[in-house]
Amino acid sequence: MSGAGILDLLVKTSYLVAATLFLLGLQRMASPKTARSGIRWAGLGMVIATIATFFLPDLHNIPLILAATAIGTAIAWISGKRVAITDMPQMVALYNGLGGGSAAAIGGVELLRWSGAGQASGQVPLVLAVLGGLIGSVALSGSIIAWAKLDGRMDKRYAFPGMQAFNFLVFAAAIVLGGLVVWSLGAHWIVAFFLVALALGVLMTLPIGGADMPVVISLYNALTGLAVAFEGYVLGNEALIIAGMMVGAAGILLTRLMAKAMNRSIRSVLFSNFGGGGAEAAEISGTQKPIEAADVAAMMAFAERVVIVPGYGMAVAQAQHKIWELTQRLIERGVKVKFAIHPVAGRMPGHMNVLLAEAGVPYDLIADMDDINPEFANTDVSLVIGANDVVNPVAKTDPASPIYGMPILDVVNSKNTIVIKRGKGTGFAGIENALFYADNTRMLYGDGSEMANALVSELKALDGGH
Ligand code: NDP
Repeated sequence: MSGAGILDLLVKTSYLVAATLFLLGLQRMASPKTARSGIRWAGLGMVIATIATFFLPDLHNIPLILAATAIGTAIAWISGKRVAITDMPQMVALYNGLGGGSAAAIGGVELLRWSGAGQASGQVPLVLAVLGGLIGSVALSGSIIAWAKLDGRMDKRYAFPGMQAFNFLVFAAAIVLGGLVVWSLGAHWIVAFFLVALALGVLMTLPIGGADMPVVISLYNALTGLAVAFEGYVLGNEALIIAGMMVGAAGILLTRLMAKAMNRSIRSVLFSNFGGGGAEAAEISGTQKPIEAADVAAMMAFAERVVIVPGYGMAVAQAQHKIWELTQRLIERGVKVKFAIHPVAGRMPGHMNVLLAEAGVPYDLIADMDDINPEFANTDVSLVIGANDVVNPVAKTDPASPIYGMPILDVVNSKNTIVIKRGKGTGFAGIENALFYADNTRMLYGDGSEMANALVSELKALDGGH
């Protein structure tokens, strides 16, 4: 076998090893116990695939590639070390979007190269370069808007009259321009096509608000995977095809799961302008009634059943360790305690599960929404810590509400509800919560961590200081 043949075999074998590591890593990510090692395995696969790529024949601009890799690695390393856990979702959205952008860039470069040469390397690669370019561009610009919304840098819902019809026209324009690129390979068509595709991602994401963001982020994740796989075909690179298909398939499955959890079809997330205005939401009557930590501790200490409902605010306050300490004290007193997890509580899928696992809460105390909902009516005290949208009963009662139709935790059915939050701040959807005004709800105002601490101290005092 010639030297080039051996090198080719080496690269292909490395790609196979990398793909196997991706698969095993993904499998290990299915359980919180093995998830950390899963990330490492998949990361190792990525390192192997990256190094192997340098041994591909006809690789040009190696110094430029090395410089770009070094800059990218440094930025990712520093931002990964610095990011607060609560800012992780926007970072994931941004990095995922950059993956889509990279795929689109591959498509763009190949198309411009073929344009200069006057012909493509084949009809299939040409069509896939255009498709990957479209999908990748939408994932890039859409993810940037999702990042800005999650990061609180822009209004969560932005729409103008006739926006859906306008968006459809922009989509149609992107398809026509894509067709012109395939037909003529004209450089001006290529530039116009990418500009319109980027605009489409922005326009599609602007009106999405309410509580639909989780579905959208995972949809862009799936699109990025698809774009990478298409461009992998264009380059004839097996590693890109396999990795892209895996991200695409996992992303599609996750999108379906999230959409099901939110009781929404993907079509309606993208096109029905959920929560984008329309009818006025109903006024909520009543007042929010405050309570002191000592009274809450006594209520919980003498309760038979307590359900704890964590949300985004628990992540902000990093209160999970104190909450687990509180739980252990209650269990020691003979109280039956469970944790209720909503599928989109927090800012990323599995956010609450990760925090509770980190604090050491055993899995058998953690219940999913469907399992726990029938139990709220028999619950003496529900303790809501930093959750808002996922416990808002207007999702069931007010058709004009931006979150109408979203399944919620039926905390409102419990005998007593205590809500820990700092003040009258709204949740991600930006709307009032009827639960906070209910007759049997009391508000324990304060930071989640401080209040959990106060409850632990009060319980200790009840137990004679032990
Ligand atoms: P929400 O965002 O609805 O509410 C969080 C609440 O926590 C706020 O009302 C805030 O009130 C309170 N809070 C903030 N900081 C603290 C603190 N330090 N101590 C105590 N309380 C605090 O959270 P939920 O978990 O109920 O709902 C998640 C929302 O995010 C849903 O709308 C979901 O669709 C969306 N989303 C979810 C994603 C996912 O994948 N899980 C991704 C993107 C969006 P106050 O300011 O008064 O303290």
